[in-house]
Amino acid sequence: MLEIKLTNNTNINIKMGGHKMSKKYLIVGGVAGGASTAARLRRLGEEDEIIMFEKDPYVSFSNCCLPYHLSGTVKDAGSLVLMSPDKFKAQYNIDARVHNEVTAINREKKQVTVKNVITGEEYTENYDKLILSPGAKAIVPKIKGIENVKVFTVRNVVDIDKLNRYVKENKIKNVSVIGGGFIGVEVAENLREAGNNVSLVEALPHIMKPFDYDMAQILHKEMYDHGVNLIVGDKVESFEKDTVVLGSGKKIEAEAVVMAIGVKPDTELAVKAGLEIGETGAIKVDQNYMTSDKDIYAVGDAIEVYNALSGKKTKISLAGPAQKQARQAADHIHGKVVRNTGFIGSSVVKCFDYNAASVGLNEEMIEALKLDINYEVAKVIPGDKVGLMPGCEPLHFKLLFEIPTGKVLGAQAIGKGNVDKRMDVIATAIKFGATVDDLRDLELCYAPPFGTAKDVVNFAGYVGTNLLNGSFKQVREKDVRGLVESGAFIVDVREKNEYDLSHIIGAKNIPLSQLRQRTNEIPKDQPVYLHCRSAQRSYNAVMALQQLGFQNVYNISGGFMGISFYEYFDDVTTGRKKIVTDYNFL
Ligand code: FAD
Repeated sequence: MLEIKLTNNTNINIKMGGHKMSKKYLIVGGVAGGASTAARLRRLGEEDEIIMFEKDPYVSFSNCCLPYHLSGTVKDAGSLVLMSPDKFKAQYNIDARVHNEVTAINREKKQVTVKNVITGEEYTENYDKLILSPGAKAIVPKIKGIENVKVFTVRNVVDIDKLNRYVKENKIKNVSVIGGGFIGVEVAENLREAGNNVSLVEALPHIMKPFDYDMAQILHKEMYDHGVNLIVGDKVESFEKDTVVLGSGKKIEAEAVVMAIGVKPDTELAVKAGLEIGETGAIKVDQNYMTSDKDIYAVGDAIEVYNALSGKKTKISLAGPAQKQARQAADHIHGKVVRNTGFIGSSVVKCFDYNAASVGLNEEMIEALKLDINYEVAKVIPGDKVGLMPGCEPLHFKLLFEIPTGKVLGAQAIGKGNVDKRMDVIATAIKFGATVDDLRDLELCYAPPFGTAKDVVNFAGYVGTNLLNGSFKQVREKDVRGLVESGAFIVDVREKNEYDLSHIIGAKNIPLSQLRQRTNEIPKDQPVYLHCRSAQRSYNAVMALQQLGFQNVYNISGGFMGISFYEYFDDVTTGRKKIVTDYNFL
């Protein structure tokens, strides 16, 4: 190979002997998307020159583990860094330059300007192809009085180390986390685990947007029960000395404030270079992650992608998609054809003792995006393994499917056990265009410590197909308060001992075991709403009554357990009148 060194740091490598000419690839950003692109480019082209610029001190660190440093689950901040520039050089022959910020792109010359942020030195590098993976920036709005509080964001190792040291070294007691998304929830949990007084403020009516209001109530309860001062539906209005002031007038003591209200794609370089920006405000790319310049690709949090279910452009800040996009961009650079099937947002989060996973569309997304989709919801709460096994826990599972096709649109699962496995099944089902009938028929692994012979996913398929076939009608937990207040006829089909423990105020107890003998107590001239613990026994009761000539009977989805979770947090935090004598979460 002939190598010509130019004065401006640019090498031209010319391969002799019939091999293809080596290329020079520059990558902006050295973490999820950037490092993955670099590694794939190397695998596809051993002779190419690959330089990866990272303005911060570290490349290839685990963003996703950052919050766990606050609780000490990840003890050493240094261990969050997965690869060093030396390792990149030794193992992959990739030139990873930390503290090097790309400040401009000259598209005509196919050249970038780079600034060494330590020395201030500026230089240029030429490229054959440039790949942008600059990620996203934490949004910190200019709220009145922000200078009165110590504000932190969590994006990288430096951020988390700074926050952790500040809290520990200054023996900080009160921390407010603003924003109840993934990062806010994880930071709040880990600070609470570390013994801090934590307030979590969310402007929307509930935390965790990938979940609907009904499912999010389970997480609200979990936060509340673990001593997090969770405030929803209230916005930060201003700050006073070590104090957060909310729209409601509430004041929260906070010697440290973590801003986690969301991220904004880092489009600064792209905008300056005149690259096209999409409708969502992120970098516009085609199906191969090529920007409006054919020699510049972009991946990760900075771009907008195609949502395979809504058919709309969307921003997705998740590590899996960033890495898949990186691979596809590198493949395309090397002339490999990869079909872009879009994204559906599979995600999972831990919230104290609960795990919460979701995929695809939820009810609130369908409404917010004004999608013209007719759908139905199947909700089940079976055990996540055989009841005799230690650690069997209820798994709250909500499935959305399209009417009339039965096509699976999305799902949410929250429980103490294995929710990700179930959500991965649904993600796969969506990928292959499955319907509720397919979920019903899926043959999934079973032994008592792992699941049940009919898995949670199968159960959701059963309920979904029954609803699709019109076998029975249902109302949801959210409807129950209105039913109680309007004096509707509600039948509790649990056994007497369960009813005596706690029940819906005004509900009549006719246990399933006595139902057939006591049908004369159930009116035929008005709607009748039945429930049990989880909606399974009441489904049997509804089916029996329908066959005995009752036309107007409804199953209450989620049952008494679902209602208890749905009502609890708002009851205890607002002091409103309860619709149950007491809750039962088991
Ligand atoms: P990043 O990984 O953020 O990398 C971008 C890098 O580019 C940054 O290091 C930045 O310094 C650098 N850069 C920007 N501009 C320049 C420039 N001009 N010159 C040089 N360098 C530049 N996702 C999940 O799927 N699951 C999780 O559990 C999860 N948890 C998370 C927890 C936290 C606290 C955070 C912050 C993120 C989490 N994510 C999670 C999201 C995931 O980390 C991101 O979606 C992913 O890292 C995006 O990859 P990226 O390459 O686009 O951006």
